Amino acid sequence: MIPFVDLKAQYLSIKEEIDPAVINVLESTQFVLGSEVTAFEQEFADYCQANEAIAVNTGTSALHLALLAAGIGPGDEVITVPFTFVATVAAICYTGATPVFVDIDPVSYTMDATQIEQAITPKTKAILPVHLYGQPADMEPILEIARRHGLVVIEDAAQAHRAEYKGQRVGSIGDIGCFSFYPGKNLGAYGEGGAVVTSNPEYAKTMRMLRDWGQERRYHHVLKGYNYRMDGVQGAILRVKLRHLDKWTEARRSHAAQYDKLLADSGVKTPTAMPYSHHVYHVYPVRLSNREAIQQQLNERGIQTGIHYPIPVHLQVAYADLGYKAGDFPQSELAAAEVLSLPMYPELTPTQVSTVAEGLQSVLQGVKV
Ligand SMILES: *Cc1c(COP(=O)(O)O)cnc(C)c1O
Repeated sequence: MIPFVDLKAQYLSIKEEIDPAVINVLESTQFVLGSEVTAFEQEFADYCQANEAIAVNTGTSALHLALLAAGIGPGDEVITVPFTFVATVAAICYTGATPVFVDIDPVSYTMDATQIEQAITPKTKAILPVHLYGQPADMEPILEIARRHGLVVIEDAAQAHRAEYKGQRVGSIGDIGCFSFYPGKNLGAYGEGGAVVTSNPEYAKTMRMLRDWGQERRYHHVLKGYNYRMDGVQGAILRVKLRHLDKWTEARRSHAAQYDKLLADSGVKTPTAMPYSHHVYHVYPVRLSNREAIQQQLNERGIQTGIHYPIPVHLQVAYADLGYKAGDFPQSELAAAEVLSLPMYPELTPTQVSTVAEGLQSVLQGVKV
């Protein structure tokens, strides 16, 4: 069986570093925040080419804090995409602001920057592009539009640790970058985790306070805050894992290159790495018009796949109140109907990648596409 991801294989490869790091935190009793989290914040900020990182409990909290620091609240509008994980949109709603969608570009799967201006109203406060699948959104036109209209740019980099746009690491391109360390992400904790990165000291100060009950110092609450703190154990684990991320990213890129090559003549549409992007392949999505049948047959051959994501957020029941309908974002809807994510994790072997590619090709020969 070839799983979609294999967290156990990665743990075993670093067990000798992880286990003592965890025990160290247990013995220190720094269970919440503490010195490991502080050290991780500096290391992760440096890694993202930003001045500061603030570690939090989830990627969703990172997005929520970024929006709050940018002053976003009820009556404001935030422009984002419907083809994303639901958390991007949920975080906007947590602030009381309204998400306003623009469609994706079907080649990059990220925000179509040519559609942004027509979505801007006097209420628009921010643009929230998503670096989906590990590929940066086309940031230059997004930043240019934001500058012209006085909007804040918040990056959802939850799937794109270490990705680069024209040589610059994601997270430090806009005003604030948001990361998730959910176990299956490119940099994953052993539990929940997230971080915001920024080089704006005012935003950093606000987010640092908001994640810990709005305290300026202990029991002096100057803002209405949250309990969004990172666990000490996760900080220690993430410090160990960050040291391996370059190597793991290269492994993902090499698997993607192998898939690209093996599927080049198969008629399957493989993902496109845009010329501006250093893609980190959180996910390797192919496009198939009869996805469900193919997914089932791959499964019967012991090849697990995923779908990211089957329903765009504007068509989710929970967000019906936003007033969108089928047909509003045709590229997002088509992608949601056709994408299939092949197994992708650093510990895959070249033999496994070939098995998946061959399995897909033989299934395709038996099924009409
Ligand atoms: C995972 C993810 C999030 C949310 O992160 P959590 O840590 O699960 O809260 C937000 N946006 C995107 C695009 C994600 O993939």
